[in-house]
Parts: sequence; C-alpha cells; structure tokens
Amino acid sequence: QDNINLFRKNHGITIGGEVVPEPIQNWNDLQKQYKINYNLLENILKSGYELPTPVQMQAIPAMIERHEVLACAPTGSGKTMAFIIPLIHYILTTSPKWKNKQSSKTEKIKGCLVRCLVLAPTKELAQQTYKEALKLTVNLEIECTSLDDYGESSKTRADLLVATPNKLLELLKSSKHKINLSHVEWIILDESDRLMEEGINAERVGFRQQIKSVLDYCGQADNKNSHLRRAMFSATLTELVYQWAMQEFKDVVNVRVGAKNT
Ligand code: ADP
Ligand code: MG
Repeated sequence: QDNINLFRKNHGITIGGEVVPEPIQNWNDLQKQYKINYNLLENILKSGYELPTPVQMQAIPAMIERHEVLACAPTGSGKTMAFIIPLIHYILTTSPKWKNKQSSKTEKIKGCLVRCLVLAPTKELAQQTYKEALKLTVNLEIECTSLDDYGESSKTRADLLVATPNKLLELLKSSKHKINLSHVEWIILDESDRLMEEGINAERVGFRQQIKSVLDYCGQADNKNSHLRRAMFSATLTELVYQWAMQEFKDVVNVRVGAKNT
C-alpha cells in the first residue's frame, strides 16, 4: 500500500473515495490485471504512447471496476483515452442490458439503442473524441457513432455514441431519428466544467439543463435505469460540481492530477 501511495505521489495523482483500485503502471498491466482484449491492447500500443499518463493510470482501473469517476487533470493530459479504453473494455466484456428485458417481457424496444454515451461541449471536441474511439476499436466489433453522420441512419444500435448535448437533444426531440437512451450503461461528461455551466437566461439554456434532460432520457431521474454509470472528466472543477458528484456518484472515485484548481 505504501508503494502504491508513493507511486501515485510520484505521478502527481491525488485520490478520493472509499475504495480506490490500484493504478496501472504500464499498458501491459491492463492485460495482467483485467485481461483486456488482445486487439484493444494492440490498438493502444499502436498509438505509440509508451506509458499511460497519470490520469489514465488511475481512471482506467477505476472505471473498469465500475466506479463512477470524477477526474480532474490538465488539458493535454490524455483524458480522452482515459475514458474510451474502459468503455471499450466494458462493451467487449458485458452484454447489453436491454437483452434481459427483451427476453423477459414482450416489451418492444424501438430505435437506435445506445450503450455508452460520451458528451462533449463542442462539435469539434466530439469529432476528435470520435476519431480516437475509431482508432481504438480497429479490428473490434464495436459500433461507434457520431451524430454528425447519424443523419437519416436506421441504425438499431450504437455501442458508443459521441455527441454534443445540443445536437443530441435536437435529435431526441425530433420524431424522425429515434435515439433510445433508456438502456445507456455509461455516460461520460467530457470537459464537465463546461457542461455543468448554468444558463444565462431562459433563452440561452445552459449546458447544465441540457445535461439534466439527457440524464432524464437515460432514466436517471426516477431510477428506472439501475445500470447507469456516470463519469466526469475535466481540466478544472468548481467546488459545487465536486460536492455534487462526491455525494451523488455511486462508489465514487475522485482522481486529481496536478495542483488543486477551482
Ligand atoms: P485532454 O483531454 O486531457 O486535454 P487529450 O485526450 O485530448 O487530452 O490528449 C492530448 C494528446 O495527448 C493527444 O494528442 C493524445 O493522443 C495524446 N495522448 C493520449 N494518451 C497519451 C499517452 N499515454 N502518452 C502520450 N500521449 C498521449
Ligand atoms: Mg479532452
């Protein structure tokens, strides 16, 4: 335990939460500890990044062990891969929750079913994240979708959907494109500091209200979706969002890299 704490300290990692998994020290630990898919490991190694970054070291095992995660690390510190890798591992190692439902009852599930949802504040960021997801899913049977090419698609499932709250809500409200979030298993708020911003007035609805609507579609409000797990990744964190997440998240793990900032 002392060694682990020293390792964290040497990498500028501060943690919070009752149970926090050991950080991985290198990519091969993912295979050793979590038996991650060989092709996924290959895709990670192909990126040419020799070692995980500190936020990746701690956030990846936390998400793999199904903790809800609140992560704060500087811009450019590799937060995207820190959540995409565990999502891919999750998709590969579990079956969709809607399956149980369908077999047990005759309830008909309609639309494009989403398993993992990543929200980013801008279209450009969403596009970048989508591209990273595509690279990491080469040779894997995973359906990644970005809303830009969702268009008139008649997809029936999206293992991983990357979207801006704006565009997503627009499509959720339109009748043509049925996106079904009722069985989402992971939702990631990337750049969550921006996604949690309040609106300025009724006309300019802030991200926060949009996020609340999206979470409602995911069945969070009335606990209809007990499978839902949430994670937030950001470069900065306001005290308010921190307090909210630490209280609200299940089995929360807080990862902070570098100096405390608000
Ligand atoms: P953040 O979201 O924290 O601002 P990004 O996920 O956008 O950072 O990553 C910033 C850059 O670092 C990207 O070019 C990304 O490919 C690269 N990167 C990601 N993981 C690693 C790693 N383990 N080692 C080196 N570079 C990495
Ligand atoms: Mg980022």
